[in-house]
Amino acid sequence: MAREDDLLSVEHLQTHFFTDAGTVKAVDGVSYAIKKGRTLGVVGESGCGKSVTALSIMRLIPDPPGRIVGGRILLEGEDLVAAPIRRMRQIRGKDIGMIFQEPMTSLNPVFTVGYQIMEPAVLHLGVSAQKARELAIEVLAKVGIPAPEKRVDEYPHQLSGGMRQRVMIAMSLVCKPKLLIADEPTTALDVTIQAQILDLIRSLQAEVGMGVLIITHDLGIVAEISHDVAVMYAGKIVEYADVQTLFKAPTHPYTIGLFHARPKIGEHKSRLATITGEVPNPLEFPSGCKFHPRCPFAMERCKREEPPLSDLGGGHAASCWLIQEGRPATLAQAAAMLEGKQP
Ligand code: SF4
Repeated sequence: MAREDDLLSVEHLQTHFFTDAGTVKAVDGVSYAIKKGRTLGVVGESGCGKSVTALSIMRLIPDPPGRIVGGRILLEGEDLVAAPIRRMRQIRGKDIGMIFQEPMTSLNPVFTVGYQIMEPAVLHLGVSAQKARELAIEVLAKVGIPAPEKRVDEYPHQLSGGMRQRVMIAMSLVCKPKLLIADEPTTALDVTIQAQILDLIRSLQAEVGMGVLIITHDLGIVAEISHDVAVMYAGKIVEYADVQTLFKAPTHPYTIGLFHARPKIGEHKSRLATITGEVPNPLEFPSGCKFHPRCPFAMERCKREEPPLSDLGGGHAASCWLIQEGRPATLAQAAAMLEGKQP
């Protein structure tokens, strides 16, 4: 349930896609909250539902075939699921900014970057074109674009990948949104630019006090920028904790698998560890615990019954029958199992 100081509260969200081949339950009962000035990292493999959750918040799910079929999304208490489209147009860009993985597909190649930053300022803040241009130059400077008075008149193709991503951030920030959604914002960038973009998001957050939802498959990025973390698998949250707790004591076997699969400095393995098996087909999710075909700890019960999200204290929760039985998995046990030894 939403608390008074929640900026965003997602409650039991269900977003399904109705296709000729069947119903895809891309998001199936997801709940989380973000407070002002905090960052939630949502992590998981491709197809786990993390981006569909973000698009649901923006009400950008293509309908048909997709639809929000249950739950609420509260932004400072206002339910976005029930909001009329006209209201959503005001909220998008003004109250919620979004940055995507590939800026080249999100920036319009035929307009200058300045025009694209000015547009939301004119639309949502009602300022004159002259004032919007001043704001565009100001925000370009803020995101670290050199010579912003000159760059403001350039086209996207004249900028490097890192600069285009900064322009996307400038576009999303010009109206000082309450919430910034960043979907794999640094995936297409090299590590140096990646670090600069994360630094930039963090410093802008400190300055403006916005909440940030960052979606990534990379635990390194989560560690770098998040206060809290939700791990998603097959349309559900399987573990939730603050970042220190999650990195110290991951408890769901899938989260443990993600940690085990990370490349580690100083390790000289002939190949990287992986989570065995494949991400399940969303048209045919396994029964019971959806992770059971890949889980080294799976028991008979796991194939039949879906485990609830169990409270582990201090805001830490995970959904696994081992927790219910009082013997949660540990990183050491899982590592041994993944290397073929008995726990
Ligand atoms: Fe593995 Fe069973 Fe826990 Fe699912 S419920 S993660 S299959 S042990």
